[in-house]
Amino acid sequence: MPIPTENVGSLPRPAKLQAAIADYDAGKISQAELKVEQDAACKDSIQRMEATGAPIISDGEQRASSFATYPLADTLAGTGLADNLAGDGQYFAIFTDGHHRQLPRLIGGPFRYKTYAADYLREAVKMADKPLKQAVIAPSMLYLLYPLEGEIEGYTREQFMEDLVDECEKDIRQCFEAGAKRVSIDFTEGRLACRNDPNNPWTGRKMLEQFIDLNNRVLDRFTAEERKNIGIHTCPGGDCDATHSADVDYAELLPSMFKMNAGYFLIQLASETDKERVYKLLGEHSREDANGVPQVCFIGVINPQNPRVETPEEVRDDILLASKYIPVERLGTTDDCGFSPFSIDVKPKHGSPDFARDVAFKKIESRVKGTQMASEELRVA
Ligand SMILES: [Zn+2]
Repeated sequence: MPIPTENVGSLPRPAKLQAAIADYDAGKISQAELKVEQDAACKDSIQRMEATGAPIISDGEQRASSFATYPLADTLAGTGLADNLAGDGQYFAIFTDGHHRQLPRLIGGPFRYKTYAADYLREAVKMADKPLKQAVIAPSMLYLLYPLEGEIEGYTREQFMEDLVDECEKDIRQCFEAGAKRVSIDFTEGRLACRNDPNNPWTGRKMLEQFIDLNNRVLDRFTAEERKNIGIHTCPGGDCDATHSADVDYAELLPSMFKMNAGYFLIQLASETDKERVYKLLGEHSREDANGVPQVCFIGVINPQNPRVETPEEVRDDILLASKYIPVERLGTTDDCGFSPFSIDVKPKHGSPDFARDVAFKKIESRVKGTQMASEELRVA
């Protein structure tokens, strides 16, 4: 079997769509008018991703407010916030360029998603010829909706966690029912949990193990056969071409991360300074048997925050080096992150979101070609 390759999920929203979102927030256009632009952006994303030769694609998350807030609000500005939420929650990340992103705050129970990822996927399926993957948010990110200290009156932390696990399970199951071939869980908060940023209180509370346990509560509801196609994505964040936790040593995260009983991991690596050291860590800590499934390591070979397009030869060489440490049957390739996890992203290092889209498709094409070249060289094609 050739080395598998899979994207994380998102693409920059076209400038036209970002303008429509602003108009929707300002009350200038209706939700139906916004949907026209979302449909066009999804169709363009799917057709162009299919044209890269990628074996599995996504809709570029063109309808999602962000990878984390899609279940909770129609837009990043908070239009159409779900029940029992207020807009002023904690920061889920502060980025290297100084900007931050904020979560809503839970003010009562029960906790319910307003939108499931499958609501987007069902639209994408109609537009696609190739198999689709769908990214969903991790319970550990949405756990941060509950205040760090104390309890919400009438809704205990444990009641919230039970509702949260139910909702996350439902989000994943609905994706498979809607036709997803693979579902990956975005876990950007894992690496950030090791950072201890005094400006972002939750990061200093050593929550990583708690996050892992919570995510396993969801994963444990799936059979080994199902978990082969359920992945985890780790990265140091990606927004406006900046990161939030690239300074955290992978050695702090990886031993815990692989305790999650997922069948595959999409791992940022192209932008790491010492890739070989990380390949070695992946070989040491990924498990041959994670409660019935082998853990496949999809190494990042593309940096979505840098406009320079990697060559297929560079991709091939990364894989060949990684194959010294990770068994080839447990090796795959991916992009370091989504190309724009948040809907409003001007892609400053690229100059514009539209140009960044053109670059993204070229990068995906390089990933696909380079992975094919490595498969041939390793005689698994
Ligand atoms: Zn990411």
